[in-house]
Amino acid sequence: MSRRTLHKFGGSSLADADCYRRVAHILLTQGHSDDLVVVSAAGKTTNALISLLERARQHREFSNELAQLTEFQQGLIRRLLLGPEAETILAQFNDDLATLRHWLGAPNRHGAEIQALGEVWSSRLLAALLGQLGVKAQALDARQFLLVGADRAPDYASSRDRLNRFLAQSPDTRIVITGFVANDGHGQSVLLGRNGSDYSATVIGALARVDLITIWSDVQGVFNADPNRLQDARLQAELSLAEADTLARLGSPVLHSRTLQPLKDHAMALHVRSSFTPEQPYTRILAEGARAEPVITSLDAVVVLYCPEGRLDSAIEHLQASGLAPLACYPQRNALVVTEELAEATQVALVEWLGAPVSSERGWGMVALISRHAGRLAGAFARLLGRRAWPLRREPLALITLVPSDEVADLTGRVHRRCAGPMKKIGLLVAGKGNIGAAWLQQFAHYQRRISDELEAELMLVAVLGREEALLAPEGIEPAQWQPRFDAEARPYRLPQLIEQASALPLDELILLDITASETLAQAYPQLLAQGIHLISANKQAGSGSQAFYHELKQAVAQRHLYWRYNATVGAGLPVFYAIDDLKRGGDRVQRIDGVFSGTLSWLFHHYDGAKPFSRLVLEARERGLTEPDPREDLGGIDMQRKLLILARELGLELELAQVGLETLVPEALQGVSDSEFLQRVEELDQPMTEALAAASARGETLRYTASLAVEGDRLQARVGLASVAPDHPFASLPPGDNQFLLRSLHYPEGLVIQGPGAGREVTAAAVQSDLVAICRRLLH
Ligand code: ASP
Ligand code: MG
Repeated sequence: MSRRTLHKFGGSSLADADCYRRVAHILLTQGHSDDLVVVSAAGKTTNALISLLERARQHREFSNELAQLTEFQQGLIRRLLLGPEAETILAQFNDDLATLRHWLGAPNRHGAEIQALGEVWSSRLLAALLGQLGVKAQALDARQFLLVGADRAPDYASSRDRLNRFLAQSPDTRIVITGFVANDGHGQSVLLGRNGSDYSATVIGALARVDLITIWSDVQGVFNADPNRLQDARLQAELSLAEADTLARLGSPVLHSRTLQPLKDHAMALHVRSSFTPEQPYTRILAEGARAEPVITSLDAVVVLYCPEGRLDSAIEHLQASGLAPLACYPQRNALVVTEELAEATQVALVEWLGAPVSSERGWGMVALISRHAGRLAGAFARLLGRRAWPLRREPLALITLVPSDEVADLTGRVHRRCAGPMKKIGLLVAGKGNIGAAWLQQFAHYQRRISDELEAELMLVAVLGREEALLAPEGIEPAQWQPRFDAEARPYRLPQLIEQASALPLDELILLDITASETLAQAYPQLLAQGIHLISANKQAGSGSQAFYHELKQAVAQRHLYWRYNATVGAGLPVFYAIDDLKRGGDRVQRIDGVFSGTLSWLFHHYDGAKPFSRLVLEARERGLTEPDPREDLGGIDMQRKLLILARELGLELELAQVGLETLVPEALQGVSDSEFLQRVEELDQPMTEALAAASARGETLRYTASLAVEGDRLQARVGLASVAPDHPFASLPPGDNQFLLRSLHYPEGLVIQGPGAGREVTAAAVQSDLVAICRRLLH
């Protein structure tokens, strides 16, 4: 495979003898013996040739201009070459001069050949200079191999054959090729347009299948705003091809769309550098995966063309086919936006094509932002628009507006200040990829983009932690792809090391989502907080751990201005914490919470009316997947006990789990036995339950398993267990499986009820998601 690279030098890089020496030095120090080189005409040579041509066409005197050009070119040769080498090249130049004089006698026949002379001279001179420095080099006129069709589209197959023949004949030689000019296939010269030698470079690079093209000029690369206008414009180390293309299409002069075209079909890297400061950073254009800040570009004067109603689409198509693609369009206004330069040609083309008048409006300028995060920045950009601005036009990679010309500079500066900084990056570490973890990942795959847009930040999944193995991906994990990537790349890990690695990533914030039931992970919360990591828990262990531990966590969170949320630990997606929070915000005080916080127990007691023994219902629920594999985990009530403790602490109370009274439904005799033995002896549950039911029925009440928390002054009562409730109590009519939370407060003495499914994959994952958005909002605004 070829490792060839191609260097292209623009006119400014060859503007005088020192420039040539710099270029030779770059080729010697950065290159390989078989590099290709493409050159523009030296300095302003093309302009000079064009002005000669114009004068000749108008039959005006041109000897002064010719003398100046001659002096410039001969001066370069004399200053750069010595002895016989100088004589040879001078003689060739003088021959060309005679030919030029001859052509100027028939300027209309020889226009292209005349303009192409500049590149012929610079390629010859640079090759000779390299030769003199002891480097094998040879000039090559692109017309010898580069064949293009009528629309200047290269004939890749034939051109490649021809070029390869030259290359095969001259191994280990730097071939210095003329830019700007090609062959029409019949031996006639075709020019590739002003500044066309960048295009020559990428086409020739594609022909020779080089890996890398470097475009050397007098600019250091692509900045995220015009560095001549904005002091804090920053050079971009990387830019994606699509971003570069959008930038070019919106009128930025650094790279032309045409230049980028060959890169779309041929995998080549493109670097943009300055030959004056080759040691400085520069810009790399990458096919994908580039990390660039938003780039702001503007045009002080654009022209708006108004098409007749309903004709805009066909007008755009026609313009694109004629190489007059507009900068932007506004369908609601039947308007096209074009550069001042192309305004007249475009208007003429449109009138001709549409057969109808096309009016134009001047006085507008354009401000555009180019970024893969355009969607994310639309809100911020839109908020900067003044009264006279056009509505923001959204494209996949760009946001565009028009403002009066005299507002362009101001808006450009504001957009740069507000939107061009690096997007805040928030990294997510997900611990737990079981039922709910997987559901969250699936939901996140769906929402990542929308949430990131809404938050104007970059939300990245950087790690997925299993029990023993973890996948850490600094560049981010596509959430939809987490499973195959985890299967392929996850490695055994130790939490402290992993946390350290994650903390070292270039991210602004890290949030760990604990979607496990792991006590070990809960134990590590202090270390996580110490590293500045925010926490979201679906895991109840920390919230229902010892009061001292809970206090330590809350203090660390407050001191370090971190966030710890645990919405999913109680009632899954039901907005219980939100309600408590909201009541507090309104100056209310929750004094009592009663509820049924277990879907399993809710289902069992809904159905338990004495018709079937309680144990039969337990087995039925187990078969339906409504219980844990070992139903004693539900019947023990500990889960509800923990939830009540978490709620109590949320009200500001201090207590330990043991202070929450617990009545278990598992008789002592069944507590220590194996799973299978428990199932065999499950009927032993029945006798106490029958008695409890009978007692409730005698009072005309219903049996429920409930939690209750009451605060009176400094007296606190917290209990989980059997209760009998009157038929008109909300618990009596609770649908099977639902949770219920009955909050009593100063403002709601009769109770505020929150009711609905309090468990389940989707709703629990959604509770985690809701915490995530809540934390991000606070972090960002
Ligand atoms: N020499 C030509 C011009 O000045 C082509 C180029 O420099 O890219 O337009
Ligand atoms: Mg919840």
